[in-house]
Amino acid sequence: MTEQRDQQPSLEPMPTDWRRALAVVAHPDDLEYGCAAAVADWTDGGREVVYLLATRGEAGIDSVAPDACASLREAEQRASAAVVGVSAVEFLDHRDGVVEYGLGLRRDIAAAIRRHRPELVITLNHRDTWGGDQGGGYWNTPDHKAVGRATLDAAADAGNRWIFPELISEQGLEPWDGVRWVAVAGTSTPTHAADAGPGLERSVLSLLEHKAYIAALTDQDPEEYVRTFLTGNAERVAPRFGGRPAVAFEVFPR
Ligand SMILES: [Zn+2]
Repeated sequence: MTEQRDQQPSLEPMPTDWRRALAVVAHPDDLEYGCAAAVADWTDGGREVVYLLATRGEAGIDSVAPDACASLREAEQRASAAVVGVSAVEFLDHRDGVVEYGLGLRRDIAAAIRRHRPELVITLNHRDTWGGDQGGGYWNTPDHKAVGRATLDAAADAGNRWIFPELISEQGLEPWDGVRWVAVAGTSTPTHAADAGPGLERSVLSLLEHKAYIAALTDQDPEEYVRTFLTGNAERVAPRFGGRPAVAFEVFPR
C-alpha cells in the first residue's frame, strides 16, 4: 500500500488567477466535509465564493421529518458558510435523495453559472465510488453523482446561447463562457490541491455548525469527530503535496 501511494504523482497547486467561484453540491454539509478549508483561504484572499445546493438535505436525518428538516438544515448550512466567508447560499429545491441527472438539473445549474459568472466551478465526486480507483471503495450516492455530472456539463451549457435558450428569453440570462476550470472534490483521482493549513481550523468550526445533523450521525464528541475527520483527510493528501496538509481536487480545464 505504502509503495503504491509513494508512486502516485504529485498534485499541482490549484489555479489562483480567478476572482469568483461557484460551488455546486447536492446537500448541506457536502462542502464542509469536502473542501471548506480551501474556501476559507480563498475568501480570506478576497475571492468571492457562492454556494449552490441542489437540495435542502431534508432526507438527511432519520428522526426528523423532511418538512421540519429542510429549514433546520438550511439554517445550519447558512451558518457554516458564514464561518468560511461565504454569504451567498442558494437552493435549487430538487428533492433530497432522488435528485435526477437530466436537462432540468443542467438548466438550473447553467442558470446559476450565468447569474454568478464564476471562473472556477467546484463540485463533489461525480464518480461511482469513493476511493475505488484500485477496485472496491464505497459506493457514492445517486445525488452526488447526478449533481457532479450535471455541474461538469452545465459549465459548457452556460456558455452556449442555443442550449436552454429560454434562460435568455425568460430570465434574461446571457451566456457566460468564462468558466475556466471545474474542480471536483472527493474523487480518488485528484490532479490538484489547495493548502488546507490556513483554513483548517475554520473548516472544523464550519462543519460543526451542522449541529443537528452531526448529533444524529454519531455519539462521539462533535468537535473530536469533526477534527479527526477533516485533519485526517488533509493529512492523507500531504505526501503528494510537499508534505503540506491539503484539499485535493480533480481539475477539468475548459
Ligand atoms: Zn451529500
